[in-house]
Amino acid sequence: MPLVTTTEMFKKAYDGGYAVGAFNVNNMEIVQGITEAAREQHAPLILQVSKGARAYANHTYLVKLVEAAVIECPDIPIALHLDHGPDFETCKSCIDGGFTSVMIDASSKPFAENIEITRKVVEYAHDHGVVVEAELGSLAGVEDEVNVSAEDSSYTRPEEVEEFVSKTGCDSLAIAIGTSHGAYKFTAAQCTRNEQGVLVPPPLRFDILEEVSRRLPGFPIVLHGSSSVPQEFVKMINENGGKMPDAVGIPEEQLRKAATLSVCKINIDSDLRLAMTGSIRRYFAEHPDHFDPRQYLTPARANIKAIVTHKLIDVLGCAGKA
Ligand SMILES: [Zn+2]
Repeated sequence: MPLVTTTEMFKKAYDGGYAVGAFNVNNMEIVQGITEAAREQHAPLILQVSKGARAYANHTYLVKLVEAAVIECPDIPIALHLDHGPDFETCKSCIDGGFTSVMIDASSKPFAENIEITRKVVEYAHDHGVVVEAELGSLAGVEDEVNVSAEDSSYTRPEEVEEFVSKTGCDSLAIAIGTSHGAYKFTAAQCTRNEQGVLVPPPLRFDILEEVSRRLPGFPIVLHGSSSVPQEFVKMINENGGKMPDAVGIPEEQLRKAATLSVCKINIDSDLRLAMTGSIRRYFAEHPDHFDPRQYLTPARANIKAIVTHKLIDVLGCAGKA
């Protein structure tokens, strides 16, 4: 099947009590690792591209890599989504350039301005058969060119969501309930430590999620910054020359719970970066004489596939739902 929008995916996810994984893509090995996992697990899939990815890999290369994945995975629905579109022009460029979904992130702007910018993107997108994700509230952390300090981050205010959705016409809404971008989602001071000395972050604000869902029945909610920062990969990095002390993510059981509620799309990027980097670091440490990129990219791709498989089955609950 050709690239699809997320409309049907989200309806099924909402009704079925699971979420669709949205994974960021930057090169061929990442696209292959993700899509091989989704194909084998028969899972619906969102491949997303950030502004930084377009700057790194070029729009055309990324679209063609995703189109290749669509040909190789004829039995699962795949959407191509712009992650954190910063302005109308970037969104328009992706809508005109083959994407089936875009995010306009005007969450740093005042409420009225966020509505105005989002509505303009929605009008253009809907005229072209493309769906739009918008954001209310702002997440802490760093993701490509999105950089929000902990002081400037803010939870979504549930009392704003109905007006925002009705005035903008957006198709899904990203909210801030305590997830965060990057591999250092919380400082040690914000966390407690478990018996193993591993940092445990503050819990997600499910009260906000529930209030948003009550005000927007049936409406798909999106969680950004939802990597869990698996300690096995942090360890693999640190044991092979890396230096990532106290990297910390969102516990998977909390994301699993969110997926059973109104959250229909969960964004996961850092965990794939960690899997890829850990695999390559270990390969270099074990094979200092090798220099063929195919040699070290093969285990990197395999570990991306492994972690995505785990997410589809154990966190998102979307395996077998394609
Ligand atoms: Zn994000």
